Amino acid sequence: MSPRLDANPDLIAAAARRVMARCDELARVSAAADAIERVYLSAEHARVNRLAAEWMREVGMSARQDAAGNQLGRLDPAGDDGRDAPAIMLGSHLDTVPDAGRYDGIVGVLMALEVVRLLRVPGDEGDWRSPFGFAIEVVAFSDEEGTRFGKALLGSSAVAGIWDDDWWALTDAEGTTVREAFLDFGLDPGRLSEAARRPGELVGYLEAHIEQGPLLDRRGESLAVVSSIASARRFQLHIEGEARHAGGTPYDMRRDALLGASEAALAIERICRGEHHIIGTVGQLEAFPGAVNIVPGDARLSVDLRGEFDGERDRVWEAISRELDEITGRRRLRWSSREVHSAPAVFCAPLLQDVIREGIVSTLGSGAQAPATIFSPAGHDGMAIGAITGVGMLFLRNPDGISHHPDEAVSTDDVALGIRALAESVLHLAAEPV
Ligand SMILES: [Zn+2]
Repeated sequence: MSPRLDANPDLIAAAARRVMARCDELARVSAAADAIERVYLSAEHARVNRLAAEWMREVGMSARQDAAGNQLGRLDPAGDDGRDAPAIMLGSHLDTVPDAGRYDGIVGVLMALEVVRLLRVPGDEGDWRSPFGFAIEVVAFSDEEGTRFGKALLGSSAVAGIWDDDWWALTDAEGTTVREAFLDFGLDPGRLSEAARRPGELVGYLEAHIEQGPLLDRRGESLAVVSSIASARRFQLHIEGEARHAGGTPYDMRRDALLGASEAALAIERICRGEHHIIGTVGQLEAFPGAVNIVPGDARLSVDLRGEFDGERDRVWEAISRELDEITGRRRLRWSSREVHSAPAVFCAPLLQDVIREGIVSTLGSGAQAPATIFSPAGHDGMAIGAITGVGMLFLRNPDGISHHPDEAVSTDDVALGIRALAESVLHLAAEPV
């Protein structure tokens, strides 16, 4: 018989309302007066960690902040050796982009706390315990977005033990280095490695997150299983022509770098649109010298390429490169590129995909449509945590697919379904033969 959650719907509805109210409460912890902005190692980061710690203790967990500023809660299983038991890690991140919404990351941390509340059992000493052979941990990662230092996943990379010492020298807009920010926050850079977890300490990592896209909204469904987190490559392109007088230079003599870059941006859209599951974006475009009366001699543009599979993404980059050769050849320009980011696709663990699918089916009833399985074009902490343990993700419907924006939304009903599905997923995982 498959495991079932013994919780009445009123409890789960109350849990969802608490999650929504806490999202509102955290939204008020912001560096900006009229917007949400909460970056790594800031005063706001410290404040939300304190709140999260309070809420972790409230559901019976022990709470600690790790050496990279991630906030962790833990509920041991029964028995004297519970402290050494491996843990299922549930959670997401509490940092935000500038002018953010209030649910990206945050809702996943708060839902994880409600899952603990639903699953916990009383211990012998008036305490609370995990009902399983493994512990339950809740993590609030400290830097998923990379807003402050331009490098994403700093918090989860520390937990995964894949911190790169070059990152200490990264600077924020004020010139503060990561190392200085650690010290200002009260963290010792020399102890960073203590944040790293060993693979044997974790049973797996499960994260609930809003979809950040419109697929579930278009399908009229609440929840989906995530198959993989996108592979991504980012480039800075430089197109060189010749700056000359805007009045005196006839068209046949012009080597206009901005027009070459414009054609390139349109070509990138055309090539990527013709592909299945490849998304390409030119988000930055600048012309130099940038004067009203000079034909632009230089142009710089960014390219962000994401795909479900690394090979497909790389093939599309080659097609874009050939197109750039053609455009710049025809316009007598030169182009070069610098790769500034590359991340392979991270596939969610088949077992964790299965338990999340079973968790959704247990929640919605077997009469409901089979849950959608979708890949995530957005990055997540699972990309780092995947280095040490299996990753599973549950997506919640995100109305109109809007996120990284103040209008970002999720419904209380979907959060209730998500809490239940995540709790059912953990039950299904516990029922798996080890
Ligand atoms: Zn997020």
